[in-house]
Amino acid sequence: MSRVYNFSAGPAILPEEVLKEAALEMLDYHGSGMSVMEMSHRSSWFQEIMDTAEADLRGLMKIPDNYRVLFLQGGASQQFAMIPMNLMKHRVADYIVTGQWAKKAAQEAEKYGEVHVIASSADQTFSYIPDCTDLEISEAADYVYICENNTIYGTKFKELPNTKGKPLVADVSSCFLSEPMDVRNYGVIYGGVQKNIGPAGVVIVVIREDLITEDVLPGTPTMLTYRTHAEADSLYNTPPAYGIYICGKVFQWLKKQGGLEAMKEYNERKAAVLYHYLDQSRLFRGTVVPKDRSLMNVPFVTGDHTLDAKFVKEAEAAGLLNLKGHRSVGGMRASIYNAMPIEGVEALVTFMEKFEKENV
Ligand SMILES: *Cc1c(COP(=O)(O)O)cnc(C)c1O
Repeated sequence: MSRVYNFSAGPAILPEEVLKEAALEMLDYHGSGMSVMEMSHRSSWFQEIMDTAEADLRGLMKIPDNYRVLFLQGGASQQFAMIPMNLMKHRVADYIVTGQWAKKAAQEAEKYGEVHVIASSADQTFSYIPDCTDLEISEAADYVYICENNTIYGTKFKELPNTKGKPLVADVSSCFLSEPMDVRNYGVIYGGVQKNIGPAGVVIVVIREDLITEDVLPGTPTMLTYRTHAEADSLYNTPPAYGIYICGKVFQWLKKQGGLEAMKEYNERKAAVLYHYLDQSRLFRGTVVPKDRSLMNVPFVTGDHTLDAKFVKEAEAAGLLNLKGHRSVGGMRASIYNAMPIEGVEALVTFMEKFEKENV
């Protein structure tokens, strides 16, 4: 068996320990005589998996009692519709567009009401986060929406927008559990787990209780109503059971690493290795304004498409996989999520140094 360093933006690297544990439990979970994939979601085994996962997540994120945790399906993209369907009581919402994912969310919301793009960084290919300290928040806005970490462009909000009292809705798919966050600053936090937490197929929604209402837009399907899932404790229908089980294992792993403070410190150390190298390289450069740099997704370029392609190809041969940038940015992108060990980032930088020597 040989494992590579996988820099994919998602689905992405998972902790080896978690994968090994899941392998050990594959045929017989805790004496049940079956795998978690085969058991009833109404069984006491699975109930315990769910309860432990939620309790661990609450502990890690310090989620206050007036927030609910929902384990749903449909990916992050389904939330682009679910959010307006559930929250757009006045049919108005403000969106801050800092990349493709926020743009897609805004476009979806337009189906349900008036969408105001109150800030955007489209003018500079989304390479920065706009100043959001004093934006013109719409009087009737039901919420203000951000994508907190922009997976494709490698930017992150270091300071949350001033929403002037409106609930903040944040897509945290690519920075989920990468550092502590103060949940009280948000109305809704959500993310697909396949970036930093688990296998594709689960989306986690942390939502303030008062935003879970019966009063949703007419025609909202039962399955797309937060209340349905909140009332049934995420067991209205069959949940993505195996995915939730793996997420639960990752929560345990995070606790063992020392929780989110420790994770943040480790992620900062890891990202610094790469950014420090980029800042002095004669061949590569980062594409993001330094103050807005993400700890999770690091795009970089040589400025020469042919050389970029050569780099990606040679890196792959050296066991450094999935470094090709998103098709909309080009160049390279290294996603260095929680589970990427610092040794992986060091191996990448060593390889880049060698490539630089050979190609400058
Ligand atoms: C990947 C990603 C999405 C889309 O996730 P799906 O689960 O594939 O729908 C949305 N937002 C962000 C920030 C992402 O990184």
